[in-house]
Order: sequence, then structure tokens, then C-alpha cells
Amino acid sequence: MISYEQIFENNQRWVRDKRSTDTDFFQKLALDQNPDYLYIGCSDSRVTAEEMMGASPGEIFVHRNIGNLVVSIDVNVMSVINYAVKILKVKHVVVCGHYRCGGVTAAMTPEDLGILNPWLRNIRDVYRLHRDELNSIEDQNKRLDRLVELNVKEQCINVIKTAAVQQQYLHTGYPIVHGWVMDINTGQLIDLNINFEKELKGIQEIYRLI
Ligand SMILES: [Zn+2]
Repeated sequence: MISYEQIFENNQRWVRDKRSTDTDFFQKLALDQNPDYLYIGCSDSRVTAEEMMGASPGEIFVHRNIGNLVVSIDVNVMSVINYAVKILKVKHVVVCGHYRCGGVTAAMTPEDLGILNPWLRNIRDVYRLHRDELNSIEDQNKRLDRLVELNVKEQCINVIKTAAVQQQYLHTGYPIVHGWVMDINTGQLIDLNINFEKELKGIQEIYRLI
């Protein structure tokens, strides 16, 4: 495990490395940010947004919480989406879950988890929506992995429900919403190939806000 002192030594090395390839790296970084991507992922320490995507500072606007949830009354995630879509004008919004997610496992554990109860209930709601499919999967780990995928899809739909996304897409053709799962067993990113146009049309029957 990394020691507290080590972090600052590593930081000094990182600064030197960045400057050695581009002497003005930090001067340029300080000017502004213009990311094309909003990444909404899990807080899990093993799933590092920029590192697994090979992205540099300035390229990804990031929001992380337990279970990569997009909850309509969470001022935090809603502010992030609004700012990213309307001000930064990102072209892609990604919701990224991961197999072996502790949040998803905890949500399916019959136990009082205190303050986590209302948060994780959102994952239980995803289970309820897809109960028949999930109950038909015998293997416990495979069922949880499938719940991870379905949770990502439902959170993508929650992103599409926002007025910011619906308005911006109508006017500019962006952002496109994507669902990914990071396979923690292999490190590979899996694109769930969510059909954004189809999902948008489908949910606007009820959730149209423009
Ligand atoms: Zn997780």
C-alpha cells in the first residue's frame, strides 16, 4: 500500500515527467478545461477512470459514487450532469459500472446498512424492474454481474431523463449516452452498446421535458 509520504514524492515525479515532455504542460492546463467526456462511475478504488481509459488531465469530467447511481434528487450528480452538458458541452456521457461491485452486492444483502439503505435502494429498484430475468440466473455471481449491467443501463436512462440532456441533444445532436462495464477480472472495458436514439425516444413518451 502507498504510504502518505510516498504520495507527495510520486506527485513531484509526475510533475517532472509531465514537464519533461511538455515544458508548458501546467501553464496550458491552468488556462481552461474542454473535456469531451463526462464519466459517471463507481467510487471503488480499483476502477480508476482516467488510468483505465488512457486519458490525460483535461480530457474527462468525472463523477463517482457508490454504485455509479444517477438519482434525480441527488443535487451532486444532477449538478455535474447539468454543468458538463450545458456549460462544458461534452459530446459523450458514460455511465460505467464494474463486476464484483461491493455496492451492488451490499444492495442485495438482506441487512440494515443504515445511511446506505436509501442509496442502495436504487439498486434494489433495478432488481425489481428486472426480477424475472435476474431470478432465472442460478449462479449467484452471474446474477450479480447481470445486475451490474442492468444497473448501468437504468442509470443511463436516468441520465436521458434529465432536461439538460434532452435539450442539448435536440439543439446540437450531443451528448450521446453510453453504458460500460469494467470487467475487474481482466481490466477490460465492455461497451453495453446502448442504443441512445432508441432509449431517448422510448423514455420521452413519459419523461419528455422539452
Ligand atoms: Zn462498485
